[in-house]
Amino acid sequence: MKKLSAMLMAGAMMMSLAACGSSASSASSEAVSSEAASSEVASSAASSEAASAAELTTVTPGKLTMSTNAAFPPYESTDDNGNFVGIDIDVATAIAEPLGLELQVDDMDFDAALLAAQNGKSDLVMAGVTVTEDRQLVMDFSDSYATGIQSIIVKEDSDVATPDDLADKMIGTQRGTTGYIYCSDDFGDEHVTPYDDGLTAVQALVNGQVDAVVIDNAPAKEFVAANPGLKILDTAYAEEDYAIGVAKGNTAMLDAINGALEELKNDGTLQAIIDKYIKAE
Ligand code: GLN
Repeated sequence: MKKLSAMLMAGAMMMSLAACGSSASSASSEAVSSEAASSEVASSAASSEAASAAELTTVTPGKLTMSTNAAFPPYESTDDNGNFVGIDIDVATAIAEPLGLELQVDDMDFDAALLAAQNGKSDLVMAGVTVTEDRQLVMDFSDSYATGIQSIIVKEDSDVATPDDLADKMIGTQRGTTGYIYCSDDFGDEHVTPYDDGLTAVQALVNGQVDAVVIDNAPAKEFVAANPGLKILDTAYAEEDYAIGVAKGNTAMLDAINGALEELKNDGTLQAIIDKYIKAE
């Protein structure tokens, strides 16, 4: 629970950073495009979206390449036919469309998906990525499009009832996630086992190799529904904001994403996508 206020502060900082970011980025995009802008773009100075779309370059021309870890339902997973499905896939498709780009999904481990965006190997990372101060040092984030909660999964007969009860227990997490970072900060590395993905961590809990799993609430619900004998504690471990990550300084991409996100928020598309995958209780 002690992470809660830190997270809320990080969220507030992110919003103020986002506010600075948008004015700074429109200034720099004007400067960068000043040559090309002389006729067409300058005359549509009111249309910042058109200006950023004109400058937008992508890793593969014509495509919007999204790095992700497709083992994180309902944000990203694969269906029975091997198609990528989930909230992040639908949101990314809806961002790509008005930009005239086709979505290309690159599936990899979560930590690799973050690195791909940081290093410009992908145009963006969407993987239920939490905005944190440390990540803001190495990549830029869009406006937030969803919120998440770090939840604790235990066996139904567990004596763990609150986050404080995790001290002296073995906790399973997904490698490179905020669940791993918070738990190792709070309880020490020796109390946390990182797994390749959330499902593997949950299997370790079922097999008795760990006493609890700390993971985002929405996938937690799906894993518990699929594995009898587990439950989610009522007390949240931390609250977080999800956003889209891009390489630091890629303001054209960030502006394009934020412009598209704003549309999706205003016309109800974003909420409809979330409601499609997360049913109200
Ligand atoms: N929200 C968590 C994070 O950003 C976990 C994301 C994930 O496992 N895909 O670290």
